[in-house]
Order: sequence, then C-alpha cells, then structure tokens
Amino acid sequence: MFQVSRRDLVLGAAGAYAAFGLSKPIAFIGAAEAQQTPAGPSFKKYKVGDIEVISLYDGVWEKPHDENFIKGANVEQTKAALKAGGLTDTHVPIPFTVLAVKTPGRLVLIDSGTGSGQTGGPKAGLLAQSMTAAGLDPKDVKTIIISHFHGDHIFGLMAKDTNAQTFPDAEIIIPTAELKWWTQPVDSIPQPRRGLAQRVQATLPNWKNIKQVDGEAELVPGVRAIPAHGHTQGHTAHLISSGGAQLLATADATNVQTLFVKHPEWQAAFDHVPDMAVETRKKLFDRAVADKAMVAGYHWGLPNVGTISKDGNGYAFTPAAG
Ligand SMILES: [Zn+2]
Repeated sequence: MFQVSRRDLVLGAAGAYAAFGLSKPIAFIGAAEAQQTPAGPSFKKYKVGDIEVISLYDGVWEKPHDENFIKGANVEQTKAALKAGGLTDTHVPIPFTVLAVKTPGRLVLIDSGTGSGQTGGPKAGLLAQSMTAAGLDPKDVKTIIISHFHGDHIFGLMAKDTNAQTFPDAEIIIPTAELKWWTQPVDSIPQPRRGLAQRVQATLPNWKNIKQVDGEAELVPGVRAIPAHGHTQGHTAHLISSGGAQLLATADATNVQTLFVKHPEWQAAFDHVPDMAVETRKKLFDRAVADKAMVAGYHWGLPNVGTISKDGNGYAFTPAAG
C-alpha cells in the first residue's frame, strides 16, 4: 500500500526537487500519484472524445534490484528515483496495464497481459478479474492489437502448457516488423530471447485470425499504429483519437514511469536496441507535448493515463482524473 500522505509528499518534495535541479515539484507529485499499485484487481475509465478507454490492472512484478538492470543508473540511483516518486525501494515494482478501447460496436484490447501470470511473478495475472470488475466480458473482445511480442504482452493470447488460443474468435493485429524479427532462424536470435522466439514461432504465424500491419496505419476506427521501434525491432505505439481528443498509448517506449519518463536516457535491460529506444521515447513524448495529447504507458501503474510535460532533461507525467 501507498502510505505517504499528499501533504508529506509535497513537503518532502520541496527539498528533493531543488536537489534534482527542478523548477517545481511536479514530477514528484505526479509520479507518486501515478504509481500506486493496487493489491487486487482494478481498473480506471477515461474518455477520449466519444471513445471510452479502460485501463486494466494485470498485477505487478516485484523485480529484485540488479546492477545490470539500467544502463545509466546504478542501484543506489534507481532506489533514490523510486523513493522520489513515492514508491518502495526494496525492489523495482513493475506493474502491467492492458488498455481496453470501447468504440461504438467494438471492444478492442491493446496487448493481452501476462496470461494469468505466465510471466511477472506471483503478483501478476489479475487481468481477467480486472475485466470482470470493469464490467467487460472477454467473449466480447473483437480485436486485440499487439504492441510487441514480449511475454507480458502476448502470453494472454495463449494457454500455459498447450499454447491453445485464448481468443480464437478475435482478430489479432500484429506489427509485421515484430513478426519478422521473432521468426528469423532461432540461432540468429540472442540466447536469452530464444525460448520466447520458439514460442512465438509455434503460435502466432500459424493462427488464422492474425492480421499483420506494416508501418503507420489505421487498425480499427479511431486507433492508429505508430511505429516506435527500439524497445524491440517492431515495437509499436498506438494513437487513439476521437473528436479532436488524442491519447498516445506508448506501450513499452518506457518501462516504470518514475524511472524512465523522468530519465529518458536511462536504458532498461529489456530494450533490444537501446539507443533507438531512447530516441523513440523522446520523439513520442515531444509529439504528445506538441499535440496536447494524453499519454499512457503499459508499465506505469494505475492511474496510467495523463499528460506529459518537459521537466529538466526529462519529462513529468501528471495523471488525468479518471
Ligand atoms: Zn512490457
């Protein structure tokens, strides 16, 4: 549970933000509110014009600290940044958040979650319960849009031991560049990613309900694919728009908000092409600032939808009232 009161936080931040060379404590307040991680199923609803977007909590991975996690920050700096954001520093809390997009007559998911905790440790796997809590029936899902093929985004498509499809009747939209990378000969893929590549190759290319999308394109009315390569070779963000309102769903352009939105130069070990990932996250955030678009991130915790602003050398996230 998040125990610090808002008053304590603002007072604490007053000293801390000066130490970080910021003009105002916006990042601290925003980050703290942004990164609450509920213990059980949870959701938050937002409006983007006529479209309803629902953030669905799929649990949290309590990742032990590890000197190799971030290039650009050691464990002490990582702990300090977590604390500055009002989070625990005993581990790195990495939450999972699937977006449901409700357009007239269609229920769409962006990413499919950890598949009842097939990855992400014992506190992952709450998506089904969160959907029920939000009044959503998995049977009504017509389309699933996948940002990239890491397990915490695609295991919700397949059963643990059999790889049987969880959503055989839904259309599953995947980025061509992502499919191409994961389906190259397995021995060309770096060793730690070969197991996942084998599972991808045993599933997605053979499924009849797969649709590939190459580059920037409208996927369903109101949702466009925005190539955002770097985290993986085909990683794709999504622009949800309706009636002049926009929400840029950045998927894994950053990992934990408190760490990587504030410090876009930090490179998480999960990024396949780290320098490109840095360039991409800055480009996406600059676009959101310029276009006054709302933003969302998959690993930002609830609430994970809000606005972004420039803050020193990084960015600050301010959650929207959901
Ligand atoms: Zn992820």
